[in-house]
Amino acid sequence: MKKDIKSMTLAELSLELKAICEPQFRAKQVFTWLHRGVKSFDEMSNLSKDLRRKLSEEYFLTVPTVARKQASQKDGTIKYLWRLSDGNCVESVLMQYHHGNTVCISSEVGCPMGCAFCASTLGGLVRRLRPSEMLDQVLFTQLDSGLPISNIVLMGIGEPLDNYDTVLRFLELVNAPEGMNIGMRHISLSTCGLVDKIDRLAEEDLQLTLSVSLHCPDNEIRSKIMPINRRYDVDTLLAACRRYFEKTGRRISFEYAMIRDVNDTPEMAQLLIKKLKGLPSHINLIPLNNVEESPLKPSTRAQVASFQKMLTEHGITATVRRTLGSDIDASCGQLRRNYEKEGKEQSDGSIRTD
Ligand code: SAH
Repeated sequence: MKKDIKSMTLAELSLELKAICEPQFRAKQVFTWLHRGVKSFDEMSNLSKDLRRKLSEEYFLTVPTVARKQASQKDGTIKYLWRLSDGNCVESVLMQYHHGNTVCISSEVGCPMGCAFCASTLGGLVRRLRPSEMLDQVLFTQLDSGLPISNIVLMGIGEPLDNYDTVLRFLELVNAPEGMNIGMRHISLSTCGLVDKIDRLAEEDLQLTLSVSLHCPDNEIRSKIMPINRRYDVDTLLAACRRYFEKTGRRISFEYAMIRDVNDTPEMAQLLIKKLKGLPSHINLIPLNNVEESPLKPSTRAQVASFQKMLTEHGITATVRRTLGSDIDASCGQLRRNYEKEGKEQSDGSIRTD
């Protein structure tokens, strides 16, 4: 069985190469090549042919291919559907902001969490990604687009904290100075609220931004739209958020998808204000993206605006997320979903840019 070389840290790679009597500096060379997104060991031109052969006998390289690519004509957002080596697909979205290029990546193929409004979870969890497959989304998005990536958000397909060890390893890899060197402060991780894992993450004391998909302060309604709430209810989740803040000093960012007549009423705003009292937080109000299979509809602009006003009047920072790439199915899971429904790649292999 060949080993997944790109999932290895530099320290692990050093041990592997030491075992075949290669000098220390080789590990760094190999690591750097891997993190530049080489597609074969033969591209590692400063290694001997013999070593390249040895590496290809011992290890495999994950290389995703572009199954589909869509570029927004409006705002430069590019959405990639990557085909992984086993044929499964995941998506990444590149967004161009003033503060830098941000890539939103997936952590799993499908998702086990079952949120009622989310396209990613419709077919359940297929499998979890490897660290290399998460890293590849950053590497190959940068290579294909030619745009340097400075920020990462783990808000694509999947629940990052359901793939905890992999995600932690991915963070270490992408943070490595010999690799992409992306600082933790430039990384956000989004979770639907796995409380045990939030506590574990707090212990890691990383400088990343934790985003929590709260979406509703009322238990009855939240349990209906987010099954995880039956395991960890709103108060249990918010208690974990408070512990997280106390341990790391990092303000929590809450995501709140505005669903018409479900979670956007003045009563909900009141309850939210009450529940968040004393917890330094930022609320991201996101107009719900329509998912064909779901009866849930987005709130009107006026509802979003009055909800935001109520929060800010009570000293809670609330911003309405700008929707990027609305012309290209850019909300998570939609491209993969549509692609699967169509059941095939465009027959001429062309790239759709509509
Ligand atoms: N599993 C993680 C991260 C992936 S989803 C989580 O739940 O946080 C990233 C964000 O998009 C989450 O806040 C999720 O609730 C939200 N989301 C999913 N479907 C959406 C939709 N149709 N409209 C708006 N936001 C959606």
